[in-house]
Amino acid sequence: MVEIRVDKEKCDGCGECISVCPGSVYEFDDDGKSEPVRPEDCIECCSCVEVCPTGAIYVDVCE
Ligand code: SF4
Ligand code: SF4
Repeated sequence: MVEIRVDKEKCDGCGECISVCPGSVYEFDDDGKSEPVRPEDCIECCSCVEVCPTGAIYVDVCE
């Protein structure tokens, strides 16, 4: 499975990754930060990495 991590310190809760992800991988956690709750649905498009304004997202196949 793809490894996906969100740096919660960097995430500002803009929601761009949630909007752009075709696999609905992300949801907001209780702190309003993005959480990759369905990494198994990732299609490895790398859109989330590209759209995140703070560089908070790491997806191993997008390095
Ligand atoms: S790489 Fe694409 S499918 Fe995977 S989590 Fe990011 S936006 Fe979603
Ligand atoms: S795009 Fe980046 S800053 Fe915005 S919610 Fe997603 S992880 Fe957080």
